[in-house]
Amino acid sequence: MSGVMVIAEIKDGKVKKSSFEAVSEGRRLCGERGGELSVLLAGDGVEGLAGDFGKYGAGRVFVIEDPVLSTYSTDGYASVFAPLIVKEKPAAILMGNSILARDLMPRLAARLGCGLMTDCVELAFEGEKLSVLRPVFGGKALVRETVEGDGPAFATIRPNVFPADPADPPEKVEPEKVPCDCAEIRTRLIERVEEGDGRIDLTEAEVIVSGGRGMKNAGNFKMLEELASLLHGAVGASRVAVDSGWRPHSDQVGQTGKVVSPKLYIACGISGAVQHLAGMGTARTIVAINSDPEAPIFEKADYGIVGDLFTVLPLLTEELKKVLPD
Ligand code: FAD
Repeated sequence: MSGVMVIAEIKDGKVKKSSFEAVSEGRRLCGERGGELSVLLAGDGVEGLAGDFGKYGAGRVFVIEDPVLSTYSTDGYASVFAPLIVKEKPAAILMGNSILARDLMPRLAARLGCGLMTDCVELAFEGEKLSVLRPVFGGKALVRETVEGDGPAFATIRPNVFPADPADPPEKVEPEKVPCDCAEIRTRLIERVEEGDGRIDLTEAEVIVSGGRGMKNAGNFKMLEELASLLHGAVGASRVAVDSGWRPHSDQVGQTGKVVSPKLYIACGISGAVQHLAGMGTARTIVAINSDPEAPIFEKADYGIVGDLFTVLPLLTEELKKVLPD
């Protein structure tokens, strides 16, 4: 067993950024330990995307195309990927820690009798074994883990933690087409209803402006939307803001919401309860705006503004407009 295989995720005809992050990290691991970096790509009409992975250093891209794979199904994707994994014998299989990955990776790992480590923030080979670091107990602790057994180690990586660095020089990839030998698909997607009209996916956003109880009502979130759009980011919310009906549940950050890792997280009127911190504690830079100087969020924040958000936010937005290009 050697090398790293990445399972690519496609959304709306485009490769998700977290897939490139996984390929970049796979390249780094292969650089350390040797072995080939390959990508599994499934869908309908996706062959043209194979070259993108070469830019991030993948040497081989296996493409499985069929109309039945145009939408994701656990049965379909697991049945086309499993035989390839068995044949190619990679030491590790990586995927971005998305909702789809949380469905597919356990199924694949169980089918092949292998171990899975989820939401990893650090990866390294220790001899033959993949060893990972991942947050537990809502981010209060990190555990180092490895998996037993002879098969490949499956791992999902937390989006925005590993940089998506293009390879220098890039690899020239000739997609290797693999026939689709798809087992019976027992679950079929009939309709997909997207929340958020094409807004940036919170888990992949590089900037998140979040609001809590301090926002007072749904209408005031317009201020956050304006600031987020200026910073090409997304709007998040605390559970109180969601439970109050001010934001949809898909915006909730935290233990029972989404786990995010943006470069910049601006928390407005959020106290910093442990359940909220569990969702954003690994953000690279945290800015908190809160009128209470004792709010726990300030213990986590890199920059804190003690003040009324209704005064601070318009000033901040106004100043940023002066310095940021349209
Ligand atoms: P509050 O704690 O009420 O804080 C509001 C803050 O706004 C205060 O610090 C206040 O000083 C400040 N403020 C008020 N007015 C202004 C102003 N004008 N200007 C500036 N600041 C102002 N919470 C989550 O967020 N995500 C989760 O996923 C989640 N999961 C949970 C799971 C469980 C099992 C449980 C028990 C709880 C969970 N919670 C979660 C809830 C969590 O415990 C907190 O209740 C919640 O995070 C608090 O939200 P908040 O910070 O918006 O509100």
